[in-house]
Amino acid sequence: MSRPETSPTVCIVGAGFGGIGLAIRLKDAGFDAITILEKGGDVGGVWRDNTYPGLTCDVPSHLYSLSFEPKHDWSRRFPQRAEIHAYLRECVDRYGLRGRLRLGTEVEGADFDEARGRWLIRTTDGDELEADFLVSATGQLSRPHYPAIPGLEDFAGPCFHSARWNHDVDLAGKRVAAVGAGASAVQYIPEVAPEADHLTLFQRSPNWVIPKPDRPYRRWQQRLFARFPRLQAASRMLVWLRFEFFILAFSRFRPLGRLYERGYRRRVEREIADPELRDKLIPDYPLGCKRVLISNDWFSTLERPNVSVVTEPIAAVRSHGVLTADGTEHPADVLILGTGFTAKDFLAPMAIRGRDGRDLNEAWREGAEAYLGLTVSGFPNLFMLYGPNTNLGAGSIVYMLESQIQYVVEAVRTLARTRVAFMDVRPEVQSKFNEDIQTRLADSVWTGGCTSWYVTESGKVTNNWPGFTSEYRRRTRRPELGDFRLATRR
Ligand code: NAP
Repeated sequence: MSRPETSPTVCIVGAGFGGIGLAIRLKDAGFDAITILEKGGDVGGVWRDNTYPGLTCDVPSHLYSLSFEPKHDWSRRFPQRAEIHAYLRECVDRYGLRGRLRLGTEVEGADFDEARGRWLIRTTDGDELEADFLVSATGQLSRPHYPAIPGLEDFAGPCFHSARWNHDVDLAGKRVAAVGAGASAVQYIPEVAPEADHLTLFQRSPNWVIPKPDRPYRRWQQRLFARFPRLQAASRMLVWLRFEFFILAFSRFRPLGRLYERGYRRRVEREIADPELRDKLIPDYPLGCKRVLISNDWFSTLERPNVSVVTEPIAAVRSHGVLTADGTEHPADVLILGTGFTAKDFLAPMAIRGRDGRDLNEAWREGAEAYLGLTVSGFPNLFMLYGPNTNLGAGSIVYMLESQIQYVVEAVRTLARTRVAFMDVRPEVQSKFNEDIQTRLADSVWTGGCTSWYVTESGKVTNNWPGFTSEYRRRTRRPELGDFRLATRR
């Protein structure tokens, strides 16, 4: 097989944190032949799509931002969505990535042409392009999950998902029914409740909610970070260490988690007067099994006289309300679905075919898996950012993305510097890796008696990384060539 001696071409799918971060690092490393395909009309991923009121990041931005592109003047510890979105757009402009970006371009599928060692990528508008590397950076939380509730389509009023917020709907004075009490709901319910005539929260399971240590950064602090970047790096490090400590509580040192649980119970007793409401808010599963939420106004919102928390299961949606299993119809003018994302589908609906026409979604029928969450046997030169088993129960996904970015840049470097035409992870390496992590995950808090978007119905943890983020960083420093079957150029 021969390939011209040029810089490898890289096609990145998705212009969120992962896609933008990778493009910057590839450019820095001298690899300029990059195309970023983005189905949306703007960059920003989840920070473009989610516009619900009250959206802030639940990881402090000194850690939830690119370490190689620090922003010194974050307005506060947990900044609002618009500030994070603006940061990503600034990164794109600062690194001159606009020319590499094709907005409004959705990938339908891609096939690996083994004879030429290249990916042939098709877009939904009928375009085709080729690249040596295909890197998906589509995230785990980009496709809303719409629940299969009978009668949902018969609802007469406006109905929308939290990730597709309909800002044309004026909620003032309306009876709002909100389904879901997860990380999104905990942020928009406190914003919606004061406006609404009445808000009914349909909560299937309660969550552990801990206080949010938020505060604005003062002007002098921002100046200090700009003047002494090491101070900001130290702040980043402290936040990172705190999350690594949390991971300890979710994995090897579970009694720590029980201490937090006791603290939560005391807080509920102290802050909530109504014993019935208290009971509704205490989870019956261990801390960390579902994502731990942070909020300072969740309890006070749920205590408002115009808010009711309904834990009776939803039986159906009617044209003017929500019917629960006990036969009560809860009247509603507007229905908000804070019901999460189809996080376990990973690269779907893209049809990715690797060697011998093998279909990735078919290979993942029993639950997605990859080597280091990055690469799948039979799909050479395909890398995934935020792929299977790289989500965290606690920590910054941007930190994980940076580990993955480093690995992909090194893979591109391998092609550029050696006679390697493509690299395909050995099936036994992938199997061994997955056996090991599944053994560790079987013992983790995520299999501790709750349902969550981390775990399949059959009980396989497909989304989360079992260890510290530092372990992941160490293991993804560079591709070990012995892990791969390598095809070489003439
Ligand atoms: P989520 O955590 O998956 O929560 C979905 C909620 O909908 C849960 O309360 C779930 O109940 C409920 N639900 C789902 N289907 C239902 C049905 N058929 N009937 C009744 N209730 C139903 O989704 P999310 O809140 O959008 O958050 C997803 C993830 O996005 C988070 O874990 C986090 O990683 C990320 N996120 C981050 C931020 C941030 O940084 N600021 C904000 C939002 C989200 P069960 O719990 O019983 O399943």
